[in-house]
Amino acid sequence: MKRYSAFAIAREALRHHSGWERAWRKATPKKKYDVVIVGAGGHGLATAYYLGKNHGIRNVAILEKGWLGGGNTGRNTTIIRSNYLQDPSAAIYEKARSLYETMSQDLNYNVMFSPRGVMMLAQTHHEVRGYERTAHANALQGVDTQFIGPEKVKELCPIIRLDGPRYPVLGALWQPRGGTARHDAVAWGYARACSDMGMDIIQQCEVTAVRSEAGKVRGVTTNKGEIDCDKLAIVVAGHSGVLAQMAGFRLPIESVALQALVSEPIKPIMDVVIMANTVHGYMSQSDKGEMVIGGGTDGYNNYTQRGSFHHVEETVRALIETFPMLSRLKMLRQWGGIVDVTGDRSPILSRTPLAGCFVNCGWGTGGFKAIPGSGWATAEMIARGEPGPLASAFGLDRFREGRFIDESVAAGVAH
Ligand SMILES: Cc1cc2nc3c(=O)[nH]c(=O)nc-3n(C[C@H](O)[C@H](O)[C@H](O)COP(=O)(O)OP(=O)(O)OC[C@H]3O[C@@H](n4cnc5c(N)ncnc54)[C@H](O)[C@@H]3O)c2cc1C
Repeated sequence: MKRYSAFAIAREALRHHSGWERAWRKATPKKKYDVVIVGAGGHGLATAYYLGKNHGIRNVAILEKGWLGGGNTGRNTTIIRSNYLQDPSAAIYEKARSLYETMSQDLNYNVMFSPRGVMMLAQTHHEVRGYERTAHANALQGVDTQFIGPEKVKELCPIIRLDGPRYPVLGALWQPRGGTARHDAVAWGYARACSDMGMDIIQQCEVTAVRSEAGKVRGVTTNKGEIDCDKLAIVVAGHSGVLAQMAGFRLPIESVALQALVSEPIKPIMDVVIMANTVHGYMSQSDKGEMVIGGGTDGYNNYTQRGSFHHVEETVRALIETFPMLSRLKMLRQWGGIVDVTGDRSPILSRTPLAGCFVNCGWGTGGFKAIPGSGWATAEMIARGEPGPLASAFGLDRFREGRFIDESVAAGVAH
């Protein structure tokens, strides 16, 4: 694979861009692989990448029923942060955030990581206490956050209204090295690197059954035929329950649509990411100038990957209290993705009752930020056959044992 560089851009500019190679090979399935990963979203692709890079396992196929990155990975609002409360969460999200810092160099692909700072507004006294507590926990975990007062909030984000009619801004949990990245680029960068290691990314390949023998996984049945494997990883976000059913077990997960929208592009007005959990909205400004806005999940389980007008209205109405200038903007487009939500709002990285079958799911409304850390931990779990230090707390057994990792404060709002 040719490296991308300033020199390559100049060279191609001179020869009318005729020398660029395909970013990844178009692969047809082989009969058997060491590892089959179902789902070419960010988590599946990152898992494959770290299997190759960290563990030397390269006889890997990534099967995708649609197009790679076409699930939640290409539909999210790209917020990256690691200011979670519990130690296992801080560890995996901070690992992910730190990998984002060098991802463009590591993958030789510009993922546009922009550590512009993330601010979670405290708009009730309860939230002030909650975020002060998180800031203390983060200090002990080595995660760089601080609780800031309203004046500092206004200085960092001049368009904000501090004395809203219902919910004045009382402060915020501020993570200066949180931010955003280009979501498609993350999927494309991992895909290119996986393909370069000889892995097969097979698109339009839907898994319709999981085959097993004597309690051990044998392979999968797909619309492109049967594919055997020694190990299988299910990494399909909102469709995890469907795949688990094929493999013969159940997951403590609910699938629900989460929506987002963007405004018309405007001049730069906000260079931080804002989350307003009390009114349930979050917002950043894209490089194109659009305001990227998200709200809460739909109130009922569903598999519809689309937006709805009432949601747009609810989210924008809530945000206008704190950002009155939004009332002048036209909204351009809206969309939805299917997220997989657990009871404690923490992910599942686990072995399963089917030997050789592993699951990575439950990232719910906030798994984009976790992609590199999750891929790192899932690859380690597959290679060792059991979870390593980053994943061990997130096993399925926690639901049986009541050992929950409660992140309802950090993850209570969708982002
Ligand atoms: C509107 C919205 C906003 C969000 N905002 C943020 C945010 O700001 N920050 C953040 O951190 N997170 C955010 N998220 C969450 C984040 O997008 C997800 O947690 C993350 O992208 C999940 O990645 P994934 O790789 O697990 O899943 P996906 O990207 O959904 O990939 C799973 C893939 O599996 C494929 N698949 C499913 N079934 C099969 C099958 N039978 N056979 C083969 N392939 C199959 C799907 O087609 C899909 O491509 C948001 C999500 C949404 C929907």
